[in-house]
Amino acid sequence: MVQILDGKAMALQIKDEIANEVRALTAQGHRAPHLAAVIVGTDGASQTYVANKEKSSHEVGFTSSVYRMPESTTEAQLLETIEFLNNDPDIDGFIVQLPLPKHINEQKVINAISPDKDVDGFTPINIGRMVLGEECFVPATPMGICTLLKRYGIETAGKHCVVIGRSNIVGTPAANLLSRKGFDCTVTMCHSKTRNLAELTRQADILVVAIGKPEFVTADMVKEGATVIDVGIHRIPDESKKSGYRIIGDVKHSEVDAKCSWTTPVPGGVGPLTIVSLLQNTLQAYKRMSN
Ligand code: NAD
Repeated sequence: MVQILDGKAMALQIKDEIANEVRALTAQGHRAPHLAAVIVGTDGASQTYVANKEKSSHEVGFTSSVYRMPESTTEAQLLETIEFLNNDPDIDGFIVQLPLPKHINEQKVINAISPDKDVDGFTPINIGRMVLGEECFVPATPMGICTLLKRYGIETAGKHCVVIGRSNIVGTPAANLLSRKGFDCTVTMCHSKTRNLAELTRQADILVVAIGKPEFVTADMVKEGATVIDVGIHRIPDESKKSGYRIIGDVKHSEVDAKCSWTTPVPGGVGPLTIVSLLQNTLQAYKRMSN
């Protein structure tokens, strides 16, 4: 029978651990860790993500600040804000919520973030360190996937892991981390030009799906007994819900789950662990600053 990788419960447990650590630090007279976020424009999903990060920061006792900038912000103005945050000794880590408006060069902005405060793990320095297996900030979503696998004791060594998606924030770092020592999977990375995708996914002991297409993965694409990690998040209109929508993933759970040994629900799987990973990275940045 399928077992659930319960990201929601695990996130609560890790938040508790972080909150205890923060309480101990502040009881000793230290200041609390401080996570800042920069958001440009009014994109609804981005506003929700930043609000959730702010709420979670408060829950664990962090100081949190949000820099809200209008859609018309120029690249130069945003770079100035980043320079300010890089140099503010009271801020341990910060994120720039993506996507940015089209007139701003996203990579240029990411490159301007100090690697020591890059708690999203998006700067070339942190990605390079991750690939070399050095100490670094690991991007939050793949870090959340790794935490779920580790804490649930899912066996990964020598397993065939197929990752669908090669984005810089999910697929590529997930494939890298799962192939490294500690996880030791044999990894196949699939993308939009992959041929015979289903033939590959059917070989997966562990299938990580980050394709960004609602319910794309169907039962015929999954091996019996596989562990399926669904990274996708999609809002689908649903009049039966008070909010007017429901959240679904990249996997058609109604038919896939029966074949799995383990699966992540959507919502409540990878999502909560993503936010928690950001908090863990911020605590790590704080400790580095204090040393
Ligand atoms: P993306 O759009 O940047 O990347 C999608 C990837 O899928 C691309 O690399 C592309 O090559 C690949 N792809 C597209 N069509 C394909 C096909 N037919 N066959 C094989 N590969 C194909 O998306 P992303 O930023 O990596 O996000 C993926 C999903 O995860 C989205 O639904 C996003 O909302 C969600 N997401 C969730 C979290 C979380 O916290 N749970 C975090 C980030 C992203």
